[in-house]
Amino acid sequence: MARPVSYNLINKPLETDISMVDMPDGNIGEGFFATSLNKVIGLARRNSIWPLPFATSCCGIEFMATMGSHYDLGRFGSERVGFSPRQCDLLMVMGTIAKKMGPVLKLVYLQMAEPRWVMAVGACASSGGIFDTYSVLQGIDQVIPVDVYVPGCPPRPEAIIDGLIRIQELVGKESLRRRNGDKYKALLESYGIQ
Ligand code: SF4
Repeated sequence: MARPVSYNLINKPLETDISMVDMPDGNIGEGFFATSLNKVIGLARRNSIWPLPFATSCCGIEFMATMGSHYDLGRFGSERVGFSPRQCDLLMVMGTIAKKMGPVLKLVYLQMAEPRWVMAVGACASSGGIFDTYSVLQGIDQVIPVDVYVPGCPPRPEAIIDGLIRIQELVGKESLRRRNGDKYKALLESYGIQ
């Protein structure tokens, strides 16, 4: 069936336009499918990530392109960008973070509910980038834990999408018990977070 628009150059079958998520591992039989709760929740979480963009400079412009129709982060279940930390589960930090912004960034992180993930987008957020100066934070992992670093100055939208896919892999595989584990608590304590 062709898409119901008149300006298609090449008519594509509708069903090949739709990407389906992979089924989790499990046991399948006639009329039933059995898997673990961990995998089902991982599947749901990884395909419905709500990003919170914390953009301070040029890398934020690349994020705008990533959200636009050409790259369209919505294809990964992440079109719902939120500006309330309490509703979001992925903090995307894009841009140069001055040291005086450090406590603000940490406060935003603390306002997010668990489980939460963090992506440092671009050289500035990952390491301070070219700004090796007294006023710039040399990487946001000095104030909050980071799950995925995206290199580039700025990273192209493809790189940001690659970062999101890596976050999805982490989210999908994460054990439901991880956030209550001693290792995770020790990680937060190393940042002074109880
Ligand atoms: S990494 Fe480069 S493009 Fe991104 S905020 Fe820093 S200077 Fe700008």
